Amino acid sequence: MSDNFDVIVIGAGPAGYAAAIRCAQLGVNTACIDKSQGKDGQPTLGGTCLNWGCIPSKALLDASHKYIEAKNDFAEFGISTGEISIDVPKMIARKDEIVKGLTGGIGALFQGNGVTSYSGSGKLLGNGQVEVTDHNDLTTVLNGEHVILAPGSAPVEIPAAPLNGSTIVDSAGALDFDSVPTRLGVIGAGVIGLEIGSVWNRLGAEVTVLEALEDFLPMADTRIARDAKKMLIAQGMDIRLGTKVTGATPTGDGVVVAYEGEDGEHELVVDKLIVAVGRRPFTEGLLGADSGVALDENGFLFVNDLCVTDVPNVYAVGDVVRGPMLAHKGTEEGVMVAERIAGFKPLVNYETIPNVIYTHPEIAWVGKTEQQLKADGTQFNAGSFPFAASGRAMAANDTQGMVKILADAESDRILGVHILGPQASEMVAQAVIAMEFDASAEDLGIIMFAHPTLSEAVHEAALGVAGHAIHVVNRKRK
Ligand code: FAD
Ligand code: NAD
Repeated sequence: MSDNFDVIVIGAGPAGYAAAIRCAQLGVNTACIDKSQGKDGQPTLGGTCLNWGCIPSKALLDASHKYIEAKNDFAEFGISTGEISIDVPKMIARKDEIVKGLTGGIGALFQGNGVTSYSGSGKLLGNGQVEVTDHNDLTTVLNGEHVILAPGSAPVEIPAAPLNGSTIVDSAGALDFDSVPTRLGVIGAGVIGLEIGSVWNRLGAEVTVLEALEDFLPMADTRIARDAKKMLIAQGMDIRLGTKVTGATPTGDGVVVAYEGEDGEHELVVDKLIVAVGRRPFTEGLLGADSGVALDENGFLFVNDLCVTDVPNVYAVGDVVRGPMLAHKGTEEGVMVAERIAGFKPLVNYETIPNVIYTHPEIAWVGKTEQQLKADGTQFNAGSFPFAASGRAMAANDTQGMVKILADAESDRILGVHILGPQASEMVAQAVIAMEFDASAEDLGIIMFAHPTLSEAVHEAALGVAGHAIHVVNRKRK
């Protein structure tokens, strides 16, 4: 096998594997190096997303959602069941099978498209040289015309709650519990805390979430965040904002968590504690002394808008560079870099990155929030529509939440779309498409939507921006 490649990619998560596959599809001789090993100790492709992130968490979210529907909602539809129970090892085994299928699928895509795969750690030495150290500590040096760095991110750890792999775990550990903890503590009311907290809450755990900030989901639209918080609390999650965890002491079979709130010091006794306080760029062992690649002040690899580092022909994509840590953002960056190497000129539009939190109801948005527009001094009009007035949501007995659309007061251009509701993750794609095409709220309002669908709420909210929604009382005669 030749050790010379046109492109060497380090990291086979969604940013790196997409870059490698696209390079190979464009006829570029490509190698991809990844060091991950799965639960069985075998090399695995797909990075955090496929192994310990997006996919396994959604497998558990879907399983626990079906469980809670069967338990709480089926009777409403006239469906009777026996006693509902959950077989946690079976649920976890199903999740592992999905992971196995998808990660194996990346291997097949590499093979089919002609990507040369190396299992081990890659280190950028300089002059396009990359040292690969395999799992037996044997090293090889590869030469690449271009190098794409995609090493991803790792969970942030806090001294107050050191992980012990059994009772104090990070998000990966929280996807592998063998039974439902009676009492579950979660540090961090961010995306992971709410998603994984929801899984175990639905399955019967008493979940307490300790969040340092006073605000709940400050990155989401304030109205949507407020409504979502109420719904999650109604589902049984105990969300304590403005709390500072000062210690976590493992006892025989649990953890005593010490924290400070505005009313003084408290103790929380739990069986399991999940630390979900954010992720950090992962660059350990990545850069040799002569790599020439610089980090920014937050430890991310420094890149320009085109994902080029300080070294020409060395690029970085995904969680390891600025911007939201989202799989689809990394994938688009990987594809952009691959296509630019092959001579095309694509760009990533960072203004239209969709965000989704897969709670139930789901929270999804794209573009600016109302509070951002106010802070920027942008004049806007807002239209909203509740799922409580949607025939399809009623038919599905899933009527919580709303769609909210914000449009420029002068041009009517859509600036932000915020959805709290069933299948918000799917509906937000309509908003992304609209914004990519610079649509106005009126454009969305005059497009025909199928009836009855949840998406009609998007249509009505768009009409509502100019006060034209149909399924509302409107006496303004506009
Ligand atoms: P990663 O997926 O982290 O992959 C990097 C790979 O590079 C890893 O396999 C790593 O082992 C390897 N590597 C690192 N250094 C080296 C080296 N020196 N040599 C060789 N290999 C190396 N995002 C979403 O968009 N939607 C979601 O629903 C979602 N859910 C998530 C749920 C959880 C629980 C978590 C933890 C994350 C979730 N994310 C989600 C975030 C998503 O997983 C990341 O944004 C995404 O995986 C980043 O892709 P990446 O390719 O940059 O890095
Ligand atoms: P996050 O940044 O979403 O949330 C972390 C939360 O922890 C924040 O609210 C923060 O204020 C809080 N926090 C920080 N330090 C704390 C402390 N000492 N005590 C109490 N609270 C503290 O991070 P995350 O939930 O760990 O997720 C990491 C990344 O993974 C995110 O950037 C997210 O984009 C990505 N992710 C995405 C999805 C999705 O797209 N659905 C799902 C999971 C993860």
